[in-house]
Amino acid sequence: MAESTSLPITPLGRTPHRVLTIAGSDSGGSAGLQADLRAFAMLGVHGCAAVTAVTVQNTLGVREFHEVPIDVVAGQISAVASDIGIEAAKTGMLASREIIRTIVATWTSEGLDGTVPLVVDPVCASNVGEPLLHPNALDAMREELIPLATLVTPNLDEVRLLVGIDVIDDDSQYAAARALHALGPRWALVKGGHLRASRTSSDLLFDGSEVHRFTATRIDTPHDHGAGDNLAAAITAALAHGHSVPEAVRFGKSWVTDCIRGAYPLGGGHGPVNGMARLSRSTEC
Ligand code: PLP
Repeated sequence: MAESTSLPITPLGRTPHRVLTIAGSDSGGSAGLQADLRAFAMLGVHGCAAVTAVTVQNTLGVREFHEVPIDVVAGQISAVASDIGIEAAKTGMLASREIIRTIVATWTSEGLDGTVPLVVDPVCASNVGEPLLHPNALDAMREELIPLATLVTPNLDEVRLLVGIDVIDDDSQYAAARALHALGPRWALVKGGHLRASRTSSDLLFDGSEVHRFTATRIDTPHDHGAGDNLAAAITAALAHGHSVPEAVRFGKSWVTDCIRGAYPLGGGHGPVNGMARLSRSTEC
């Protein structure tokens, strides 16, 4: 699928690939598990969801969030794993250290570690900087969850929090990829989308030896809510289809670029990227 922008469609009546998002709810419908499930549906996979937190938010901001009790987080993952099965999973907003530790313990006890691809999007804050992860949870993210990841997908703010590197150019982006990979994931993707001065959006993928760069023309829009979720969700769907990590990231990049191109105004604040942008090209979803 190296150059492809589409995933195959499952014939009607057959079970599609099964994926799980472990994420927070966005009442505004732009990011979080709402964006993930929309992307999964668009990409023809069966999306399951383990809810970690409920945010009270609209396009103007996150007013508050409430964590789901840890036994309920664990129970959702176990219920899906033990019956439906999981072919790939992603994590998004995890809110607290206790929730991260619960996910790590459940992922391991369900025998998913090393067998099911796991994409960790280390969400720390909303797109306008409101915290979505307790600061005391960073160590658990860094030392316990990221080592289980097939792929970790931080933006530049998350890179700074996780490995203390300010990415300002290609060299520092590579240094950040090395530092992230040293935390233990199989692959690290350092997303360059937040380097606003650059005319391109260039992401660097690294597995300790191979380096891949994925570059798209920068699309300037204030409506970028849910971009990170859509990228990680599309990568997860492609992994469930059996694609390699570089192929899946190439696919996800082309997917999210279309979503950003189709971004729309909503409410009075930051609108979402358009997770349905490819509906007009339904045979390519
Ligand atoms: N998950 C939830 C519940 C959120 O509210 C947000 C941002 O507000 C995110 C994830 C991350 O969103 P983005 O894809 O814009 O980074």
